[in-house]
Amino acid sequence: MKHFDYIFTGTGLSAMMTVYKMVLSEKFIGKTILLIDEDLKKTNDRTWCFWQKESSIWESVISKKWDTALFANESFKRNLGLSPYQYNQIRSLDFYNFVFEFIKEQKNVTFLNDKVTDINELDTHVFVATSTNTFTCNQLLNSIYNKALIENQQQYPVLQQHFIGWFIKSKQDLLNPEQVTFMDFSVEQKNNTRFMYVLPTSEKEALVEYTLFSHTLLEKQEYESEIKSYIHNLGIQDYEIVEKEKGSIPMTCYPFWKRNTKRVLNIGTAGGWTKASTGYTFRKSDKKSTQLVAFLETQNTKPSTPIKMSSFHKKDKFWFYDLLLLDILDRNNELGSDIFSDMFQKGNPVLIFKFLDEETNFIEDVKVILKCPKIPFIKALFRVIFLSKKF
Ligand SMILES: Cc1cc2nc3c(=O)[nH]c(=O)nc-3n(C[C@H](O)[C@H](O)[C@H](O)COP(=O)(O)OP(=O)(O)OC[C@H]3O[C@@H](n4cnc5c(N)ncnc54)[C@H](O)[C@@H]3O)c2cc1C
Repeated sequence: MKHFDYIFTGTGLSAMMTVYKMVLSEKFIGKTILLIDEDLKKTNDRTWCFWQKESSIWESVISKKWDTALFANESFKRNLGLSPYQYNQIRSLDFYNFVFEFIKEQKNVTFLNDKVTDINELDTHVFVATSTNTFTCNQLLNSIYNKALIENQQQYPVLQQHFIGWFIKSKQDLLNPEQVTFMDFSVEQKNNTRFMYVLPTSEKEALVEYTLFSHTLLEKQEYESEIKSYIHNLGIQDYEIVEKEKGSIPMTCYPFWKRNTKRVLNIGTAGGWTKASTGYTFRKSDKKSTQLVAFLETQNTKPSTPIKMSSFHKKDKFWFYDLLLLDILDRNNELGSDIFSDMFQKGNPVLIFKFLDEETNFIEDVKVILKCPKIPFIKALFRVIFLSKKF
């Protein structure tokens, strides 16, 4: 049975970011790394967007940047100047190709296209079975998300950021490629949190996405008929659908890190790297993977005392803020539009993005939170702190 220093079960966003940075650091040259994924990662299976100030190591795969964003509901529209941030878009296939191209030169990194069927942690190593092989490793980084684990617990609310998006090409120049529609709540809410999200890449091309933050997915035709009527309302009559994407991203404060053990660390969505209140994962994975590589490097300096993977994560105030919002949306899903509208109508967009990036100090947190409707948050605070000791 072949042995590796590190095995990554799942080779998507978080694993690729981590291994890319491990190679860049040059501190893992003597370590063997196995990446396993049941998918070859040769399709453009998602489009990632994230806001960022400084340019990053992913600069070469960013396909589009926007400096302004529109926030709207049925009664107001606000053009948000994002500077010093920019809203960036990456097509996942460009990212996968970029990372694979880089790591294929590394003799110590191997990719295996196979399905992981078992992970078993023993005292001295971790055992991994795939459909056709078995391996062992010192440390395992797992990004295979266990949906049943999260959905079969009652303690933490679990919502989904779910959506269908159409990449359309219009016959006429009807779009403003300089402005992304971040959230447009003018669509009927139907007792949920529902909005449109539009990423125009030229005057004729855009990704138009119908998105919900709610418990249950809709029938495909409901997302699609909303997209159709929204495109119609934009004045676009004549267009073709070039590509489609769909997704369902878990929004939960479930403490994924409690499942990290001595030798197994959960990363990506499976490790709680998805921002619970928004579903955004790219930026948080970028930061977490940097911290993780630094954490793993410390092990190299003290090889005789292996670090415990379980000591990687710490709970912070942003986890608590997210829990408040999720508690509200879990009980009163129809309040999402009011909460986000109040925040974006009155608030400073740059501060909101900083807050959502979990980089604000306490005074800045208060400035953002005070823009939100007070009663639901006070009730949620009361419930979370006083009524429920479970958190
Ligand atoms: C369509 C879509 C659009 C999104 N857009 C954004 C966005 O704009 N901004 C943002 O911040 N986030 C976005 N997200 C959320 C998040 O960034 C992605 O889901 C991201 O890919 C999560 O990274 P990950 O490493 O946790 O999981 P993944 O990238 O999904 O990687 C997990 C890997 O595990 C593999 N796998 C699963 N089971 C097995 C098995 N048994 N054996 C072997 N391999 C297995 C999968 O094939 C996959 O490659 C989006 C998600 C989707 C689905």
